[in-house]
Amino acid sequence: MEKDLGAVVSYLVTKRWSFHLHATYDQSIERFLNVFEEVNEKTPFSGLRWFFVHAETISNKNIERVRKLGGGISVQNRMAFQGEHFIDRYGEQMAERAPPIVQMMNAGIPVGAGSDAPRVSRYDPWGVVQWLVSGKTVGGTQLYPPENRLSRLEALALVATNNAWFSGEETKKGTIEVGRLADLAVLSQDYFTVPEEKIVDLESMLTIVGGRAVYGSGEFSKLAPPPFAVSPKWSPVVPR
Ligand SMILES: [Zn+2]
Repeated sequence: MEKDLGAVVSYLVTKRWSFHLHATYDQSIERFLNVFEEVNEKTPFSGLRWFFVHAETISNKNIERVRKLGGGISVQNRMAFQGEHFIDRYGEQMAERAPPIVQMMNAGIPVGAGSDAPRVSRYDPWGVVQWLVSGKTVGGTQLYPPENRLSRLEALALVATNNAWFSGEETKKGTIEVGRLADLAVLSQDYFTVPEEKIVDLESMLTIVGGRAVYGSGEFSKLAPPPFAVSPKWSPVVPR
């Protein structure tokens, strides 16, 4: 693996192509980092955007190595679905910091969050946010102690502001500011006051992308664009 990965990564770094790697265990992350550091000596990463996705069992030592290479980590709410299974295999203590989100954030590296859709769950970010805030699986098992859970504001920042770094759009997206894209959603309820177990039920009532309404329901339904035609004009299949 190391030889092939080394060739691929040095090619990416030479071309200044951003890349990311999905890795769960510290053991595989360790091997990837050995390769990255070796490449970096000959072909410096020097600010190239790269990151790991998942990193459930990453050690503090390897979080530090990610930081030194200018990388980030995108956590996914897989443990919300597999937490009980993880506890059966590795025990409660190991589950408490799988993934070690707060250690990652304290290290000062970019940390984002996603759903790993469509492999693990749906695209909807609210299941991810509820997992970050509650530290519970969808079955209700408490995985994380309070010190490895996030406040509602921190959890929201992970899926909004922080995620913009991962797509290289931190100057365009992630915050509502003059000069940035007017991407926003009006939610069905107040995220900051809704009961914790109801976060997952939040829905968009109005979605605006780049200043244009792309979805509307309820009182905003008049702003919704017309639904897609069942058989669009460009379709080569002509209905009889
Ligand atoms: Zn993945």
